[in-house]
Amino acid sequence: MLDKIVIANRGEIALRILRACREMNIKTVAVHSTADATQKHVLLADESVCIGPPQSIDSYLNMPAIISAAEVTDSMAIHPGYGFLSENADFAERVENSGFIFIGPRGETIRRMGDKVSAIKAMREAGVPCVPGSDGPLGDDPEENLRIGREVGYPVIIKASGGGGGRGMRVAHAEGALLNAIALTKAEAKATFDNDVVYLEKFLQHPRHIEFQVLADHHGNVIHLGERDCSMQRRHQKVIEEAPAPGITEKQRAKMGRVCVDACKAMGYRNAGTFEFLYENDEFYFIEMNTRIQVEHPVTEMITGVDIVRAQLEIAAGEKLKYSQQDIRISGHAIECRINAEDPKTFTPSPGPVRLWHAPGGPGIRVDSHIYSGYEVPPFYDSMIGKLIAHGADRSIAIARMRNALSEIVIEGIKSNIALHQEITNHGAFQAGGTDIHYLEKRLGL
Ligand code: ADP
Repeated sequence: MLDKIVIANRGEIALRILRACREMNIKTVAVHSTADATQKHVLLADESVCIGPPQSIDSYLNMPAIISAAEVTDSMAIHPGYGFLSENADFAERVENSGFIFIGPRGETIRRMGDKVSAIKAMREAGVPCVPGSDGPLGDDPEENLRIGREVGYPVIIKASGGGGGRGMRVAHAEGALLNAIALTKAEAKATFDNDVVYLEKFLQHPRHIEFQVLADHHGNVIHLGERDCSMQRRHQKVIEEAPAPGITEKQRAKMGRVCVDACKAMGYRNAGTFEFLYENDEFYFIEMNTRIQVEHPVTEMITGVDIVRAQLEIAAGEKLKYSQQDIRISGHAIECRINAEDPKTFTPSPGPVRLWHAPGGPGIRVDSHIYSGYEVPPFYDSMIGKLIAHGADRSIAIARMRNALSEIVIEGIKSNIALHQEITNHGAFQAGGTDIHYLEKRLGL
């Protein structure tokens, strides 16, 4: 097993990884910026190393500083969490070339999946259904691009191959808007991702976002843990996630799960990963693969009983998967609300001191949060301050528990989006289940 690891992240996911390590008797090294010295996981870790000033570029994105921290603390491995360097192929390779284990897939896999055009190509080859589209990068010939647009049919979406985090996408509703949309997305992609490759997909009008969790060891064993529905989004950012996805049948789950498992085998995938799909009219269309642990992993943990972070650590240590596909049973329903330090109406971030924090409890309630009374939310990072997860024997019990828990939470000193979650979970459309990815923005009048 691993003996000591560096947790190269912050916030709730750093704490989540620390908790798994402590359960498994793995020593932990927290690396943190000067703004994060009083984070809960830093205080709880066996060792901590300050890796730089507050700005992420100088600390959590500083590869030499993180690798040096692994060296000086004589650690064996580095867990990247999500965000920051977690999907940076160069980092994964530098970690391994420096003699440490990168807790995640191989650098080459991260690189292939990080580029959306090459990811879609790999998926098509592996038999994964993709959104109809340009089947590769768009060239410079306007006539040819107009022909592709006509063939795919409007509306279409132009997407940056190097895009991520919901950026680098633009919809063209009719032919007259296509060439301009391509030019704008290309320029934006060049400026933001230093990669002006763009491609075109059919823009699905009422899709749901449904994704499959997989685990793959280094011995060729791959399993899936079913799907999550992450359709409740604002600006392409997930707000509420749940598992299983309402209305998805056992048969669909088994079929799509097998497609994902086979694709992992075809590309020699290892560690945890997620296949993201848009789902419309009973069809799944691959959009991208995330080669890391995801924010919403707890809903899957709650319904399968599989500890995904523990599995990541075991896999990285070279152990075989502890479960076969037949061992995976789905029990009940789980919902996660992302708690952000932000104004619930304007969504403006609200950093500052947490004067009082009271976490909810009761049957089926899980709180993954690093905040505590007296903690100061720094202004430099993502505004998510925790996740509230409710599990129940069925979806209506999970919703009832979530609503109870939301009403019990107390956060004073900073603003939070609890009121937004209360409003969503009280609403009939959410309670019925199966709302599409545009539902929340429409409701918010955006
Ligand atoms: P990112 O890497 O930036 O998250 P994705 O490709 O995963 O980009 O897309 C993010 C979101 O954008 C999706 O969850 C969906 O809401 C929307 N989207 C992407 N592709 C399409 C499409 N072809 N049709 C409709 N919506 C799309």
